[in-house]
Amino acid sequence: MTTETRAIVVGAAVAGSAVANAFGAQGIPTLVIEKGFERDNSTRGDFLHPPTLRFLDAWGVLDALFDDGALPIYHLAVSHRTLGRLATYEIRARGQGRAGRTIAVPHDRIEAVMKGCAQRWPSVTLLEGTVTGLLREGGRVVGARARVGGEEREFRAPLVVGCDGAMSLVRRELGIESDRYLYDHYFVYIQADGPTDPPAAIHFCLDETGVIMVASRPRRRMRIAIYCERGAQNDLLRRSDADLRAYVTYRVPWLRDIHFTREDVHVYAVARALAEAFWAPGAALVGDAAHTTHPAGATGMNLAISGAARLAELVAPVLAAEAVDLDALDAALRAYQAERRPAAALALEHNHQQAGRIWMNGCHLDPYTYARNADPNAGWGVEGAGWGENPAALLRSAGY
Ligand SMILES: Cc1cc2nc3c(=O)[nH]c(=O)nc-3n(C[C@H](O)[C@H](O)[C@H](O)COP(=O)(O)OP(=O)(O)OC[C@H]3O[C@@H](n4cnc5c(N)ncnc54)[C@H](O)[C@@H]3O)c2cc1C
Repeated sequence: MTTETRAIVVGAAVAGSAVANAFGAQGIPTLVIEKGFERDNSTRGDFLHPPTLRFLDAWGVLDALFDDGALPIYHLAVSHRTLGRLATYEIRARGQGRAGRTIAVPHDRIEAVMKGCAQRWPSVTLLEGTVTGLLREGGRVVGARARVGGEEREFRAPLVVGCDGAMSLVRRELGIESDRYLYDHYFVYIQADGPTDPPAAIHFCLDETGVIMVASRPRRRMRIAIYCERGAQNDLLRRSDADLRAYVTYRVPWLRDIHFTREDVHVYAVARALAEAFWAPGAALVGDAAHTTHPAGATGMNLAISGAARLAELVAPVLAAEAVDLDALDAALRAYQAERRPAAALALEHNHQQAGRIWMNGCHLDPYTYARNADPNAGWGVEGAGWGENPAALLRSAGY
C-alpha cells in the first residue's frame, strides 16, 4: 500500500517536530515517521534562546513549554574552588514578554512538548516506524520506504525532510558527505535535585583540574556538566554514586546538598559536522542531520528550530498549491541551502571558539581571564549570536 502526502519528515525529535509544527501551521499535509526514542535524552541540553522562542511562540509551543515548567534564566556566574565567586553577570532580556529571555527545559520534555504540539495540527500525522530508504524517480526523491509494525510500506511526497540526527540515513541515502570532527573530550552530565547558586543561572565552576558547569533546571533541579579529557569519563562512570557525589562536591563545594542516582548520569561525545549540501531534488536536511555543533554555545536545537521555520517559509507556498511545481520547489530548497548552510557554518565556528573560551585549551588555568571572557553581554554576545541562536546576526557580524 502506498500513501500520498505533501511532505514526509523523518524523525520527530527537536528538528522533526519543529518542521511538523512549521508545516502544520501552514496547513501542509505532513507525515512524520519516528522510529521511537532509544536514547535517554533527559540531560542532553536545556537552553532555548529568544530568537528561537519567537518561532515556538507562533506555533503555540512556547505556552506549552511554560505550562511544562520552563525556567527563565537570569544570571551567568563564574567561581573558583579556592578563589570564590569571580563574576556574576545578568543575562539581559532581548525583547518583551516570555520570548525575550533564554529558558531551560529538560531536553526530553522539549522533545515531548514539541511533538505533542505537532500532533495538534490537523494536517500533521505522526507514525511510529523506521525509514529504511528513499524512493526515487528521474533523479529526484519522491518518497520513503519504512518498516511500520513489521510491514514494509511506501510513502510518496514531493518533499522528504531528513530530521534523523547526526547519523542521518536520509543524508547517507542522498550521498551527501559530512565532514565530521570528533573532539578529544567528553561530557559527563548529571541531573540532580537541589538549589543552584544563583537560582535560575548558568554557573561555571573552576578548579585546578578543569571546569564544571551547573545549570539550573525547573523544579529546583540542575544539570551538572563535567568536562573530561578522553578516557577520564570512564573513571567517573566506574565510581559508585557516593564516590561520584564526593568527587563533585569536592570540586564544587557549594553543591553539598545535591542528590542523584546512577540513572541521572550520562556521557556525551562531542562532534562538529557540516553536510556538504542541505538539499537534493525532492529532499532537505534539518537539524543535526545537516549540522552538528559543539554544545558550548547551546545552539543545536536553536539552529534546528530556526532552520525548520525558514524551510517552511520557503517551501510552504509551493507545497500548498493544488499541483506542486517541482522547479519552484527546487528553487526554494536551493534558497534554503544558500541561506542556512553559511549561517550554520558560522555558528559552528563561533561555538568552537566559545568551547575554547569556556572548556578547552586549559582556559581554567587563568580564572580571571576566564571570568572576563564568560561575560554573555560582551565578547561572545554578538546580538546573541555568541550562543549561535541567531544565524542572521552571525552573518551580519561576519559582514555578509
Ligand atoms: C551534551 C549536549 C548538550 C546540548 N545542549 C544544547 C542546548 O543547551 N541548546 C541547544 O540548542 N542545543 C543543545 N545541544 C544540541 C541539541 O541537543 C541537538 O542539536 C538537537 O537535539 C538535535 O536534534 P535533531 O532532531 O536534529 O536530532 P536528534 O535528536 O538526533 O533526533 C533524530 C530523531 O530521528 C529519529 N530517527 C533516526 N533515524 C530514523 C529512521 N531511519 N527512521 C525514523 N526515525 C529516525 C531518532 O529516533 C530521533 O528521534 C546539545 C547537545 C549535546 C550533545
